[in-house]
Formats: sequence, C-alpha cells, structure tokens
Amino acid sequence: MLREDMVDDEGLATAELDELAALLQDRRAKDLGEAEHLAESLGVVLSARGESADDEHDPEGPTLSYEWSRLQALRGETADDIVAVDAALARIEEGTYGRCMRCDRMIGVERLRARPTAELCIACAMTVDG
Ligand SMILES: [Zn+2]
Repeated sequence: MLREDMVDDEGLATAELDELAALLQDRRAKDLGEAEHLAESLGVVLSARGESADDEHDPEGPTLSYEWSRLQALRGETADDIVAVDAALARIEEGTYGRCMRCDRMIGVERLRARPTAELCIACAMTVDG
C-alpha cells in the first residue's frame, strides 16, 4: 500500500474508509427499503383494524394491536438506524470517523466492519453498556 493512502499512522486507510462508507451506504439503502416495507405493512394493519373497529369482541383485534406495536417498534429501530448511519457518513465527511467519541482513540477497522455505525471503541462501549 502506498504511504499516501494512509490518513495518518493510526487512522484508517483511504481504502478502508471507502469500504466502510460503502457498507454504510448499503445499509442505508436496505434501511430505506425496510422503512418503506414497514410503512406498507402498517397501512395494511391500519385498514384491517378499520374493518374491525371493535377490538374487544373481534378475535383478530388483539393480534392486530400486537402486530401494529411490533411494526411501529421495527419502524422506530429502522429510523434510529438511518440516523446512526447518517451520523457515521457525516463523520466520514468531517474526517472524524473511526475515532472513539469518548476517549479519542481509534475504534479499529475490525470493529467498524462488524459495526460501521460504532461511535465508541470496545473499551468505552463496554463501560457505557455496563
Ligand atoms: Zn474509547
């Protein structure tokens, strides 16, 4: 690898940044597809619920309520993930990507490959999560 490819001695190489950026873009595209799919499913549940307005006496009522909550939760997770992916992409633009937001050490490319949205190094993540 050419010396010019390196951001600095401990930073990510340009090729690694490109690879992680591609992972993030990919994940964003999947999230958007998922969000669209969930919105459709919510629409289906909504119209099904509309047809059976009386949840208590309709045997399908509780199932639909459960499905509604489940889909809403998934939609929330997907939305959160898009926010995390966008934040990671913004950090790539800024040149701060790959650095722990807490201790400022490098997160490490292996961890980033497994979790491209990671904001903390393993040591800090373990402290935060307990
Ligand atoms: Zn850290």
